[in-house]
Amino acid sequence: MPNISKTADAARLEEAAAIILSGGLVAMPTETVYGLAADATNDVATAKIFEAKGRPQFNPLIIHVSGKEMAARYAEFSSVADALADAFWPGALTLVLPRRADSGLSHLVSAGLDTIAIRAPAHPIARRLIDALDRPLAAPSANRSGAISPTSAADVAQSLGGNIDFIIDGGPCEIGLESTIVKIEEGEVLLLRPGGVPREDIELVIDAPLQKLSDKKIQAPGMMKSHYAPNVSVYLDVLSPPSDHAFLDFAKSNLDHRHRLDLSPDGILLEAAANLFASLRSLDQICTDNDLDGISVAPIPHDGLGEAINDRLRRAAAPRD
Ligand code: AMP
Ligand code: MG
Repeated sequence: MPNISKTADAARLEEAAAIILSGGLVAMPTETVYGLAADATNDVATAKIFEAKGRPQFNPLIIHVSGKEMAARYAEFSSVADALADAFWPGALTLVLPRRADSGLSHLVSAGLDTIAIRAPAHPIARRLIDALDRPLAAPSANRSGAISPTSAADVAQSLGGNIDFIIDGGPCEIGLESTIVKIEEGEVLLLRPGGVPREDIELVIDAPLQKLSDKKIQAPGMMKSHYAPNVSVYLDVLSPPSDHAFLDFAKSNLDHRHRLDLSPDGILLEAAANLFASLRSLDQICTDNDLDGISVAPIPHDGLGEAINDRLRRAAAPRD
């Protein structure tokens, strides 16, 4: 098992930074989910990320930086990109921008594309690690590819334990959903993945509707239909869950079900987002322990963070290959 550090004091962060500098993998807390971090300028280190996660190499990684100034070393910023970074960084918004020819980034991180996905995380531990290294960190979620994303250090250890060098335990993730990803192309902003920053907040800043992927027929690499998948099957928009299912409820829609967890009894989407992945993990375990056939999920509203929650649930419920 890797070394799990419960504290993020200076000595432990130095240890983590030294591991990354020497090409190793460190799981770090961010405000979205736990990330599996490696030096994004090191080919061997980034290759280890793909190996540890079992992630296909055509699926590019997000680069984590301290802010716009550092990001500008690696990506070309347009005025729209500037405005979005000013409004949402540090935070849960990833920008897909043209990659600078002199970026020095490993080509593995962008899967050979001429664009990169980049964000400045808000979590103080992730920020301190980036600052200590003054290097960009490639950091996808710290779980096996296709499985449920980790929102605690224990989730990381369970999913990837043997494959990584060091885990920094920063407690549960505040947002609990991955970042929102937008691509900026010819001044237009396309939503590639809903996430921790709601669409409505972005539209306020750009003063225009976010374009949907399907409107533009652009392919977002690596957006697998089946993802975030528990072991058992998942069924959506269920009002009356069968007795041989576990039930993921929202706003107390069905209090009588035996094996039930509520994402947010008061119907608060922010709380539901933070609880989503941990609840799926718990219900998966409850299904195993009680020999249940699946997880039924109550309808979740689509506005605000609901768009991202429903996106993750659709992928959790998608047919597996
Ligand atoms: P994650 O797995 O959370 O690290 O998110 C990575 C996702 O970002 C990938 O699966 C892609 O969908 C998206 N992404 C990363 N780089 C690019 C890029 N250059 N162009 C478009 N999408 C990207
Ligand atoms: Mg992931």
